[in-house]
Amino acid sequence: MTNHWSESASCRSLDPELFFPVSREAVYTTQIAPIRRLCAACPVAGPCLEWALATGEPHGIWAGTTPSERRRIRATRGRRLTRG
Ligand code: SF4
Repeated sequence: MTNHWSESASCRSLDPELFFPVSREAVYTTQIAPIRRLCAACPVAGPCLEWALATGEPHGIWAGTTPSERRRIRATRGRRLTRG
């Protein structure tokens, strides 16, 4: 049986609150550099990002992306699909 990707996550033992900053995104984007570095080295960053995109996760940092960055990725992918 295959393990779920989250079982190999670099953030598995960290406080989840670190990934859900409470301040407005415009403010916290400057505060998430350490999280982005952690995610950049995470072995499951790909599945993590795809999960956040597929579920439309509206909060928190997933695979080093902010909610607005994920909205842009989803919009870009949507445009590519409609162009064919
Ligand atoms: S990419 Fe970042 S948020 Fe996603 S599982 Fe890895 S450490 Fe956690």
